[in-house]
Amino acid sequence: MRIDIISIFPEFFGVLDISLLGRARQAGLIDLAVHNLRDFTHDRHNTVDDTPYGGGAGMVMKPEPWGEALDSILPATDETDAGTPERATGPVLIFPSPAGEQFTQAMARELAREPHLVFGCGRYEGIDQRVVDHFAGRGRVRLVSLGDYVLNGGEVAVMAMIEAIGRLIPGVVGNPESLVEESHEDGLLEYPSYTKPASWRGLDVPPVLLSGNHGAIAAWRRQQQIDRTRAVRPDLLPAEDDADLQPPANSK
Ligand code: SAM
Repeated sequence: MRIDIISIFPEFFGVLDISLLGRARQAGLIDLAVHNLRDFTHDRHNTVDDTPYGGGAGMVMKPEPWGEALDSILPATDETDAGTPERATGPVLIFPSPAGEQFTQAMARELAREPHLVFGCGRYEGIDQRVVDHFAGRGRVRLVSLGDYVLNGGEVAVMAMIEAIGRLIPGVVGNPESLVEESHEDGLLEYPSYTKPASWRGLDVPPVLLSGNHGAIAAWRRQQQIDRTRAVRPDLLPAEDDADLQPPANSK
């Protein structure tokens, strides 16, 4: 997968050199480039923001540097191409925004199948709306929110998205089975995990996990998932009763 990031703080993304994603980059599974938005300015102060039309607090990111930066990354398109199949297969351009659609595991899975993602990190009060409107006319644009809170900039949101998407790219996580039984993969939160020792500071591992009975372990884990989800994220549970939330048939 190719990933381009545009930011006024490219140094934020240095951590993508380490851990699983760093190894994925070295292995050629992820080809990642970070672009400094200020490289696309033409004044002495490398200005990327200005006051908002209509008044109000804060500054807004100017459209010109964004236009030049994105033009340098996105394939040139004839404006008359809008709606053609080629356009539908071009890069996905993602602007993190608290006013966007909510980022989810399902979206991460969908984006992990894309060959090319471009992220535009906003700062200040955000980016001039015409940047979004212009590029929406040239390709696939999504405004994506990490959650219902406001960050100082898009960098942390992009890091979280890239980590969630990146680990779903085949080959990035060594054991693909570890991706299957995770929170949000089957609509529920994951069950609690334990490792050795069996007893620690007076707390024992639940005996069922030491029983060697795989059916009983699967049933216990499923019940833990349901109980946990009901306790902290009841919004994730289906409206029906627990009949739909039984241990999987192959757990017997
Ligand atoms: N004035 C904007 C609003 O109220 O919607 C918030 C701007 S915020 C201070 C600056 C930048 O941080 C945004 O342009 C966006 O890139 C990023 N950002 C802030 N909160 C975010 C969130 N919850 N999800 C994704 N990106 C976020």
